[in-house]
Amino acid sequence: MADAIDSTNTPTPRRKPKPEKTSVGGRELSPATLMMGHGFDPALSEGSLKAPVFLTSTFAFENAAAGKRHFEGITGKREGGADGLVYSRFNGPNQEILEDRLAIWDGAEDALTFASGMTAICILMMAYASAGDVIVHSGPLYAASEGFVSKVLSKFGVTYIDFPAGASPQDIADTLDRAKCQAGETGGKVAMVYLESPANPTNALVDIEAVKTARDAVLNKPCPIAIDNTFLGPLWQRPLDHGADIVAYSLTKYVGGHSDLVAGSIAGAKHWMDPVRALRNTMGGIVDPNTAWMLLRSLETVELRMQRAGENAAKVCAFLRDHPKVTGLGYLGFIDDPEQQNIYDRHCMGAGSTFSVFLNGGEAECFRFLDHLQIAKLAVSLGGTETLASHPASMTHLSVPPERRAALGITDALVRISVGIEDAGDLIADFEQALEYV
Ligand SMILES: *Cc1c(COP(=O)(O)O)cnc(C)c1O
Repeated sequence: MADAIDSTNTPTPRRKPKPEKTSVGGRELSPATLMMGHGFDPALSEGSLKAPVFLTSTFAFENAAAGKRHFEGITGKREGGADGLVYSRFNGPNQEILEDRLAIWDGAEDALTFASGMTAICILMMAYASAGDVIVHSGPLYAASEGFVSKVLSKFGVTYIDFPAGASPQDIADTLDRAKCQAGETGGKVAMVYLESPANPTNALVDIEAVKTARDAVLNKPCPIAIDNTFLGPLWQRPLDHGADIVAYSLTKYVGGHSDLVAGSIAGAKHWMDPVRALRNTMGGIVDPNTAWMLLRSLETVELRMQRAGENAAKVCAFLRDHPKVTGLGYLGFIDDPEQQNIYDRHCMGAGSTFSVFLNGGEAECFRFLDHLQIAKLAVSLGGTETLASHPASMTHLSVPPERRAALGITDALVRISVGIEDAGDLIADFEQALEYV
């Protein structure tokens, strides 16, 4: 029998040579600049300035040895994924360009994109958790994430322990200790520490550095710290700089930013991404090429949009704070708790544009306020160009048991607002007239 063909020496035509240059004349380029061209070479697409949408289910190999080499990447025989395109459940040009650009914002080595934020989070957890393992998470989480851990992973023998988002370093370490004991009893390991910060809708912040210190002290086996950064990322919080290993996003929110698509992503070091990529290759769930293309457009303006939304939120909150019908504000720009302020100062570069307002009254008063808004739309979701308002107790958090809702501070008087990029004066006029109905 003839020797196996050595696939390593075949030249590899790439969408763009790697690693790509990210500096000019010794100056490191900022993400805002790199969003216009990074990862795409017009010469490989008929000179098209913008990447075309690559609608294809499969890719032609330049020769058989290249096909072999690409499959070595897909099957994990070669590190770091495929170095060529194979089949659209695994990867595609639009998705790869998007992943390269997303990684830049978080200072990550690699990123993976998904059909939704929840697809990203579910595949991430499944890739790391086995029967007998324990997941430690901060609370509250996005309701579907919390449900996936407690109702779905539990079917496969994975248990969990949670701690409140504002927990002290000691409480976090104690929780990890208990999780380690629990894993010992069930014959598994602590598979992941999963965080969400700030928590929704309370805006309580998790001390990521304290979680890393506790993980390093308490857990000996490698256990990734993952964090859902949807509320402040990518502009206002870079969790990988503070000890997180994996950052997760619903790209549906600020990154997509126009309330016209659903997608998700994770980013981190290649060795953390590889098991997740392998499971995504098996299951599917990669973002589709058209949505990836729309996200490339969104990324060109993400900094502009988030800056403007952040400035608007600061103005709107300054107005709301002094209004007689407003009894409280859950806004990261006005924190009263010194511990929370300390976390904010270490972790955050901005207060965001999603916050909660407590009105003088209950459900009836909140509903009157919501029903009289003329600019802000009454809808769940956040991070879009337009301002949205909702009532968590009767909408996004309706399924949360009343005792847990009370413990989390989600009262009937709470309205959640995601401020967009409209004129701030117009938004203030809208809130002012709607507050008259409270
Ligand atoms: C919206 C959201 C998700 C889920 O994202 P989808 O894109 O809707 O699947 C997860 N986490 C947070 C914090 C979110 O706001």
